[in-house]
Amino acid sequence: MTKWVYSFGAGRNEGRADMKNLLGGKGANLAEMASIDLPVPPGFTLSTEVCTTFYDNNRCYPDDLDGQVREALTRVEKAVGRKFGDPGNPLLVSVRSGARVSMPGMMDTVLNLGLNDDTVEGLAAAGKDPRFAWDSYRRFIQMYGSVVLGVDHHRFEEIIDHAKLEAGVIEDTALSAAHWQHVVDAYKDMVAQETGKPFPQDPQEQLWGAIGAVFGSWMNPRAITYRRLHDIPADWGTAVNVQAMVYGNMGNDCATGVCFTRDPSTGENIFYGEYLVNAQGEDVVAGIRTPQPVSKAGAKPGETPMEAVMPQAYADLIRVRETLEKHYRDMQDLEFTVQQGKLYLLQTRNGKRTAAASLRMAVDMAREGLIDQTEAVRRVNPSALDQLLHPTLDPRAPRKLLGKGLPASPGAASGAVVFNADEAESRAGKGEAVILVRIETSPEDIHGMHAARGILTTRGGMTSHAAVVARGMGRPCVAGAGGLSVDYGSQTLSAGGKTVNAGEIITLDGATGEVFIGSVAMVEPAMSGDFATLMEWADKVRRMGVRANAETPLDAETARKFGAEGIGLSRTEHMFFDPQRIGAVRQMIMSQNEAGRRAALARLLPFQREDFRQLFTIMAGLPVTIRLLDPPLHEFLPHADAEMEEVARGLSTDVETIRRRAAELAEANPMLGHRGCRLGISYPEIYEMQARAIFEGALEVAKETGKPPHPEIMIPLIATRRELEITRTQVDKVAEDVFAEAGKRIEYSVGTMIELPRAVLVADKIAELADFFSFGTNDLTQTVFGLSRDDAGKFLPRYVEAGILPKDPFVSIDVEGVGEMMRVGAEKGRLVKPGLKLGICGEHGGDPASIAFCETIGLDYVSCSPYRVPVARLAAAQAALGVQGDRTA
Ligand code: PEP
Ligand code: MG
Repeated sequence: MTKWVYSFGAGRNEGRADMKNLLGGKGANLAEMASIDLPVPPGFTLSTEVCTTFYDNNRCYPDDLDGQVREALTRVEKAVGRKFGDPGNPLLVSVRSGARVSMPGMMDTVLNLGLNDDTVEGLAAAGKDPRFAWDSYRRFIQMYGSVVLGVDHHRFEEIIDHAKLEAGVIEDTALSAAHWQHVVDAYKDMVAQETGKPFPQDPQEQLWGAIGAVFGSWMNPRAITYRRLHDIPADWGTAVNVQAMVYGNMGNDCATGVCFTRDPSTGENIFYGEYLVNAQGEDVVAGIRTPQPVSKAGAKPGETPMEAVMPQAYADLIRVRETLEKHYRDMQDLEFTVQQGKLYLLQTRNGKRTAAASLRMAVDMAREGLIDQTEAVRRVNPSALDQLLHPTLDPRAPRKLLGKGLPASPGAASGAVVFNADEAESRAGKGEAVILVRIETSPEDIHGMHAARGILTTRGGMTSHAAVVARGMGRPCVAGAGGLSVDYGSQTLSAGGKTVNAGEIITLDGATGEVFIGSVAMVEPAMSGDFATLMEWADKVRRMGVRANAETPLDAETARKFGAEGIGLSRTEHMFFDPQRIGAVRQMIMSQNEAGRRAALARLLPFQREDFRQLFTIMAGLPVTIRLLDPPLHEFLPHADAEMEEVARGLSTDVETIRRRAAELAEANPMLGHRGCRLGISYPEIYEMQARAIFEGALEVAKETGKPPHPEIMIPLIATRRELEITRTQVDKVAEDVFAEAGKRIEYSVGTMIELPRAVLVADKIAELADFFSFGTNDLTQTVFGLSRDDAGKFLPRYVEAGILPKDPFVSIDVEGVGEMMRVGAEKGRLVKPGLKLGICGEHGGDPASIAFCETIGLDYVSCSPYRVPVARLAAAQAALGVQGDRTA
C-alpha cells in the first residue's frame, strides 16, 4: 500500500526536513520542527505523489487516500481534544499548499475550515467569544468562496463595505458579532446566487473541496508563470498540509507574524520581523494592515514592538530563533502565531535573501563556525553575485526626492512609470526601462515585476508580496511608500503637490527606500571584503580555470580586477573598427590584388602589434588566446550612401566601385559564408600580418619585462584537418621569420575553435595539429540546431515559453544536443592527445548551468565577459563541489 499521508506534531512525526521532494518544503519542515520539540500545531501532509498521481489519472485521487486522511484526521482530533464537525467543540483546520521549493503567494490557502452554521456556535461557546467565531466563519466563507468556489473576491468586499456603511463604522474591527453574523448570511446568499448551490455545510465536503483546490492551483496560470521563471518542472507537484488551527485573532493577547533569523536585506545578524496583534496570518502577508516590528531595536518612534507588548512570547520567539539557526545552519524565515500568549510555529524555511545578504550570511556563518568554508561557497547563488556587481546611485549626483517608502530590495533603477503589469511586460519587451508602480502587488503581477527594472508600491510592509518577490528576483524595490499616492484612473503618481505621469522617468533606491523624479547618475559598486573572502574560498576548491573574453586594454584590466586567469578569447576584428584603422581595413578589402592588400595590411601591422603588446603587458604572463580574423569582410564596409561617399573619398575612388565591391561580398548566409579560416586561406596575407603582429608584440614585451608572454593563437571556424594544417603552417612560418629577424624565440601554441559539427566529428584528426581546443558554443549552437543566431529571436522566445525548449540555447548550453557535441569533441581530441587543453569561449562560459556542464566533460577552463568572471569563479567552484539544484538566493 502506498503511503500518501504523513502525520506531524503531537508526538508522531513521519516526515523530516530532507523529505521536501515528497512532502514539499512546508510539510517537511513542519515535521522537522515538531521533531525537535518546537510548538507546532498537529496536522498531516498529503504528499506530492498524490498531486502527480492526481494529474496522471485524469484528476482522480488514489483509492486508499480517503482512508489515510481519515486516520490522520482522527489522530489530530485526539491530540487537540476536539472533533472535526463537532457542533459542541469543533476542530478547525487550515489547508495549505507546499511545493518542493517555495513559490510565494503562487498557490492557495484556506483557513478556519470546518466551520458551518452549527460549529460556529460551538466555536463561539468554547472561546466565549461570539464575535471571534462569526468573524472566523465569514473569513472562511470568503477564502473558501474565492479559492475553492471561484467567486470574485470583490463580491465579498462589497458586502463588508455595505455592512460597515450600515453600521456607521470605518474599521472592520468595529463590527460586532451580530454584524458579522449578518455578513455571513449575506455571504451565503451571494455564494448560492453565484454558484447555483448553497455554501457547503459538510466539513468533509469542505475538506476535500479545499484539497482539490490546492492541487488544482498547481496548474493555475500564475503558478505556471512562476515555474517558468524559476525553472521549476511541472511534474514536481505540490503537497497539501492540513493542520489544526491556532488563532492569532482571538484578542489582544494574540498575534501573528513573519520573521527572519537575520536581516534578509543586508544579511546582518539581527533578528528581523513584523507582526500584527489580533490578526490572522494572511493579514501580514497581504499587506492590508501595516505590521509592527518584533524587536525594540528595529522599532521607530511611535511603533509598538512585540518585545514590549508581549515580552514572554517574544522571549520564546528568540529561543526559537536560536534553536532553528543551530538546527538548520541557515537563515530561517518563519511564520508564527501567538494564541492567548502561547507561541506556535506554522512554518520555517531557508529564507529568501538579497544577493548582498546571501554573501554576508555565508561568510559570517562560516566565521561563526555554523558552517564550513566549502558550505559557504555552496550557499551563494552565482547569479546573485551578478547583482552585487551592479550600479548604485552616485551619492554626489543631484536628485529630486518625490517620497520615501521601505527599502524592500536593494539596488537602484531608473525607468518610465508604468501602472500595470501587462504594460510593463510589453514595454520592457521593446527594450524600454520601466518601473512598475502599484498600490500593492499580487501574484497576478509577477510577469510585470520580472520585466520591470524596479518595483514601487504604496502599501504593505517588508514581507508584503512586492517585497518578498522583488528580493527573490533581485529587482530593486521600494514598498509601502504611504506618502505617495497612485491614481490608476488618471495614471498618475503624486506626493506633496508633485505629480508624475505614466511614461515619465523615476528612480528608485531600493537600499534607502527613496523615490526620485527623473533619472539619477549611478556608480559602479565597490567590492566588499566579504566578496573577496568568498572568492578566495571558491578559488581554493575550483578545478577549472576562469579566463575572460577581452580585446581592449580596459576589458583586460577589468578582467584582471575580477580575477580572470588569462584571456580565453580576444576577437581581433573588434580591433579593426577603431577610426584610425578602419581606413586601412577597407583599403585592404577594396584592393584588386595581393600587392594592394599587403600594402594596406602593412599600415595595420603597427596598430595590431601595439594592441597585442598592451594585452600581453596587462596580462603579465597569464595566457592570452588571440583569435585570428573571423567575420566576413562585408561587415567592414559601409552600407549607407553617405558613408559610402565618405569612404570613397578616403580611398580616392568612386562610390560606384565601393558599391560594387560591397555587392560582390554580400552573402545570403554570411554566418555560414566566407569567414573564419576560409578568409585566412583565401587571403593568407591577413593571417600572416596578424601572426607577425602577435609575435613582434610578444617579443617587445619579453624585452621590456624580461618575462616572455606565451601567446595562444586560435584559428576560427575550422571544419577540416587540412584547413588547420594550412593555417597552422602559415603561422609557424611567420614565427620562424620573426624569431630569425629578432634573434630570439618565445614559446607559443596554435589551436582551434571547435564550433562546427564537422570539426567535432573529426576532432581526433584535428587534434593531431592543435595544441588546444576552445569550444565556440555560439556558432556551435547555431550550427548544431541549424538556426541563425541573428534571426532566432523571431521564434525562440516562444519556444521557451511553450516549453518546447527548456531554455534559450544561446544563453545556457543545450546539454542534450550541443553539450553532447562538446562531449564527443573533447573525448575524440583527448583520445589522440591526452593532455590537449580544452576550453569554452562562447557566451555560455559565464552561465552557471553551462559551467556545471563543462566540469562534467573535464574542460580545463571557461572564458566569459569580464563582468561575469566572479560569477564564473563561483560557479566553477560549485561545479567542482557537485552542487546542484536550488539555493535560496
Ligand atoms: C563562438 O562562436 O562561440 C565564439 C566565441 O565566437 P563568435 O561569437 O565570435 O562567433
Ligand atoms: Mg564563433
